[in-house]
Amino acid sequence: MKKIILAIITSALIVTLAACGQGGDSSSSEASSASSASQKQEQQEAKEQEEKSAEPEESDTIQDCKYTKDEPLVIEVDPGHGGGDGGAEAVWNGETILEKDVNLRLAFKLANHLKKYENVKVIMTREDDTASEIHERIAKAADDKADLVVSVHNNAYGKGFRYKDGCMVLAATGNLDEEKAKEDQLLGAYILRELAKAGPDGAGPADRGLLLRYNEDGETYENGKLQDYYGVVRRSALAGFTGIVIEHGYLDNEKDYNNYLSTDEQLERLAEADARGIAAYYRLIPVKKETEKYKTQHIIMVDENDENTQYIKEEYDLNLLD
Ligand SMILES: [Zn+2]
Repeated sequence: MKKIILAIITSALIVTLAACGQGGDSSSSEASSASSASQKQEQQEAKEQEEKSAEPEESDTIQDCKYTKDEPLVIEVDPGHGGGDGGAEAVWNGETILEKDVNLRLAFKLANHLKKYENVKVIMTREDDTASEIHERIAKAADDKADLVVSVHNNAYGKGFRYKDGCMVLAATGNLDEEKAKEDQLLGAYILRELAKAGPDGAGPADRGLLLRYNEDGETYENGKLQDYYGVVRRSALAGFTGIVIEHGYLDNEKDYNNYLSTDEQLERLAEADARGIAAYYRLIPVKKETEKYKTQHIIMVDENDENTQYIKEEYDLNLLD
């Protein structure tokens, strides 16, 4: 059986799609229809066209590409495995580390970081050590009207991969919906870019790319193309939303474990990186903190004699970003 495993290294990806896939249509196919029009008319039209294109078009700027729907962006954070399914494991200093536990800690942190953005609703598929099947998790996400499922995982070395460390995002192959898959892959690239910097000295887990994996038993979508291998990716795509899996690092790799996965502080950095990548893709806006009253003073100086200087208490309302 031939395995088709495509790990596309994101650094090699030339991404030309804008995050929200705006049309950007500047077609002028109708411009030359009036062959009988006088030259003057044509000049006038050209002038008008020029004036029109000089006006700032909102859809031209990437800033306008943020998530702008009235209803919140619903993100389902899914801590991988749970209950009797421990996921990957590794033993460090005599202690067995289970992926399901690391995933849950990381997922809580990710949820907290995502809540720091406006117009986002964050829901978790599990908040304790319970087991549930992937189809149940994606059904829950569908009930929650999720726009995005982020499945939080960590790796361990297995056959079929040349890598023994680093982070990866599992995304749609495009066999169900090519355009949508390109968007999902773009989201993955945003996240990988952040993760690769999420280490203590600015160097995070190595970016191993986007994993696009096809069904290996010949199962196809209705269009006859091979299904996506991973349940979160496939079931989310079929349900009409984005499902990605983030493999943050290898639990059984000494460097990954010690640098990125073993302390709360390290997991915090990974979670923050995930959230930053997601926020950058959707153009989310950080929630402003409550206005803070800040007290300082005015020193009103009229000459070099301190006795003539006035010291007046002042209070300012500061709108602080998080
Ligand atoms: Zn896993």
